Amino acid sequence: MKQKRVHIVTMGCQMNVYDSEQMLRLLAPLDYRPTSQLDKADLILLNTCSIRAKAEHKVYSFLGRLVRMKRLRPDIIIGVGGCVAQQEGYRLVERAPHIDIAFGTFALGRLPSLVEQVKDQKQQVVDVNPRGSSEPLCVKGPVLKVERVTAFVTIMQGCDNFCTYCVVPYVRGREVSRKPEEILEEIRLLVENGVCEITLIGQNVNAYGQKNSHGCDFPALLERVHDIEGLRRIRFTTSHPKDLSDRLIDAFCRLDKLAPHIHLPVQSGSSRVLRRMNRGYTRDLYLKKVARLHEIRPGIAITSDIIVGFPGEERGDFEATLDLVRQVGFDSLFLFKYSDRPNVPAAKFSNKIPETIKAERFSTLLEVQRELTLQKNKALVGTTQEVLVEGPSKKSPNQLTGRTLCNKIINFEDSMARAGQILPVRIVEAFSHSLLGQPVGKGHGAHSGENGGMSYAA
Ligand code: SF4
Repeated sequence: MKQKRVHIVTMGCQMNVYDSEQMLRLLAPLDYRPTSQLDKADLILLNTCSIRAKAEHKVYSFLGRLVRMKRLRPDIIIGVGGCVAQQEGYRLVERAPHIDIAFGTFALGRLPSLVEQVKDQKQQVVDVNPRGSSEPLCVKGPVLKVERVTAFVTIMQGCDNFCTYCVVPYVRGREVSRKPEEILEEIRLLVENGVCEITLIGQNVNAYGQKNSHGCDFPALLERVHDIEGLRRIRFTTSHPKDLSDRLIDAFCRLDKLAPHIHLPVQSGSSRVLRRMNRGYTRDLYLKKVARLHEIRPGIAITSDIIVGFPGEERGDFEATLDLVRQVGFDSLFLFKYSDRPNVPAAKFSNKIPETIKAERFSTLLEVQRELTLQKNKALVGTTQEVLVEGPSKKSPNQLTGRTLCNKIINFEDSMARAGQILPVRIVEAFSHSLLGQPVGKGHGAHSGENGGMSYAA
């Protein structure tokens, strides 16, 4: 029998990366194997993101490219999942009638039966029904061939915060945490299959366990993950500043395997705008938490998200954001221009900011941050960093690529090193998005079992 191939295009955040892996596991019993070649696929799946208007436009533009392919090969099955499918439902298939399946975020577990349905009935199917179960989906079964030494593990889904600009609570539902035992079992399996670094993911991991009776909150979960033998590094994302407790901050001091990096989206440096965004903290509270992080773990890297041009953002609000960015000295920033999303409260706010002003604020902030990031990276030149080797560099096959504890990308040449090793690497040059290094010391070809013993400066 001819082997069937599935090609998955993943857009958006790490939650979607994880969900795409779940799709592969779900489709394995139907004899679908992954292919990286779009034109060799029998089944093409788009795992979509609707957090920004731009991300949604990308979905339709990609679907446009598939029209001709579907005309030439009508037997090919095209499925669209994720947040755009959940949000758009039947509108999606009206706008892109060459789609065979539209499956929302709650329908992920039903993907195999939807594929079978299309094959049997030769009809389009749309499944955007809300989740039937109170648990997030976790597909049991053998770990797929692990090609990376790092992996994402979802610990919770959904969000209860209802920030006024965000679609997540509408397309991903309310917060639901997975059982700790299930998470720990999944991580153990990944570690047995060669994974050294785990990133625990969720829309707001700090709220893990707050709503159920698993008897384990996020700091307690981190401690249990930390005890897993063979696991070398732990990261987590995303953290809501209002739920960043002192106990969680203290974990950066208590837990050796917890990498000194936190992604802490601030969104604006103006308390007035933060209130309109319904973020639940002020500028001062955010700065206090940042100060405490530096006190507990000197040198910790802090990255963030900022939205410019939120409705009603005045020049003074934007100046406050610039000031906060300089004061914190973020290691890097994800910057976004505000865009209206369907059905969110901010879409109805008055005082929308003209696109020209948004673009101007965006480029001003981008320039400030570019300079800050470069300064931070340059300060690392001459230091030795502990680097987890991830594999050959995509841009330069003679080089290896890896990440420092602070999550900075570093490229270096070493004919002996291999993915999964943790090496001391001296930084010799700094750029805006990466570092260039040279391995130091004897025995870096051996698999290091130690995390300590290297100087760290950021
Ligand atoms: S915390 Fe706010 S921005 Fe983050 S997912 Fe929840 S609603 Fe969206």
